[in-house]
Amino acid sequence: MPGFEVFGDEEKKEIMDVLDTGILFRYEFGDQRQGVYKVLEFEKKFADYCGAGFGQAVTSGTAALKVALAALGVGPGDEVITQGFTFVATWEAILDIGAIPVFTEVDETLNMDPVDLAEKITDKTRCIIPVHMLGAQARISEIIEIAGKHNIPVLEDTAQAAGGRINGQHLGTFGQCGTFSFDSVKTMTTGEGGMIITNDEKMWRTMSEYHDHGHDHAVNPGGRGGEGRSFIGFNYRMMELQGAMGIAQLAKLDSMIVAQKANKKRLRDAASAIPGVKFRTLVDEAGDTATFFAFILESSEQCRKVNEVLAGEGVGAINFSENTWHFYPKWEHLLQGSTTAAGGWPFAEPGGKRRVVYDPEALPKSADLMSRTLVYPVSIKMSEEQLDKICQALKKAATA
Ligand SMILES: *Cc1c(COP(=O)(O)O)cnc(C)c1O
Repeated sequence: MPGFEVFGDEEKKEIMDVLDTGILFRYEFGDQRQGVYKVLEFEKKFADYCGAGFGQAVTSGTAALKVALAALGVGPGDEVITQGFTFVATWEAILDIGAIPVFTEVDETLNMDPVDLAEKITDKTRCIIPVHMLGAQARISEIIEIAGKHNIPVLEDTAQAAGGRINGQHLGTFGQCGTFSFDSVKTMTTGEGGMIITNDEKMWRTMSEYHDHGHDHAVNPGGRGGEGRSFIGFNYRMMELQGAMGIAQLAKLDSMIVAQKANKKRLRDAASAIPGVKFRTLVDEAGDTATFFAFILESSEQCRKVNEVLAGEGVGAINFSENTWHFYPKWEHLLQGSTTAAGGWPFAEPGGKRRVVYDPEALPKSADLMSRTLVYPVSIKMSEEQLDKICQALKKAATA
């Protein structure tokens, strides 16, 4: 899972390049920076690696979602559809831009169910955000086909699946844009950080200016002169130290995935002895990033029993139906509309009129599926003892 497992001399060297110049900022200081532009270099390398035209680095994966939504023109009054199994960040960004998140069921990909998506599109839908959760692909071709019929842009939340592919094509390059996170626990990390990739130059230009207070980057790329601006922006600038980390981590991404795949295979082989077990559907197994291993039992009862055995062996798995950060019915702050704004925004309009009410029972299919699913995080350097311990426990659970 986390790229911090493989920090080494490569990261140190990149960081020292920055410290040697003393310029921690991505823009300006042309005379002092001795040609070192780490964030710019990271953007180019990351976009190249993914096969995308443009990369825009930002401060986090959440900021990446927000900046992408802003550039797609999403705002108050709009609806944005995402899935009910994701990290809270996906819908925090939607609310932050003033739009209303609408949630779909997930299917056995553990990602957006295209059938439910088709039913949730309204004349207010302005963007669709499938999430490539737990390292593996959403049914992106079906989703894009449905979105295309309504002319709605697709933003791929690829925060958890950097390096993931379908038939060799990188996740994040199927829709209008793809967003990534490099936070502390993501496959590659810059400590905190994010990226948006797109093939649309105009969208990239808007993101570049929006994330930098609206400075006109066409006239004066990165400079602070008398240039104008086209709209009101914000500050989501990545700093040079993060760009430096990103360059070193990106160079290791493919090898991290190879290591995870080998570890995941061991777990999968052991779990296949459990009666009735199924594995999460992978759209393309070769393009899985293998950051997590998910297996699905026949009933929530069986799932509970299996996990009791695993926990008894000291290696309990994650059941995301109990997880308060990733699954819709557990987001009580969303369901209750808890906000810091005294007026109740974004859940209530000025004057108090409620804009949206969320029903905790709204996603029964996902609730059933998640109650039967167990997940192990897969890391890069799992010790032989650790792998062995989980595999033995899975075998024990198979016969219990
Ligand atoms: C981590 C994550 C984010 C947000 O990334 P940060 O860099 O932590 O802001 C967004 N979406 C998903 C699915 C994530 O897992």
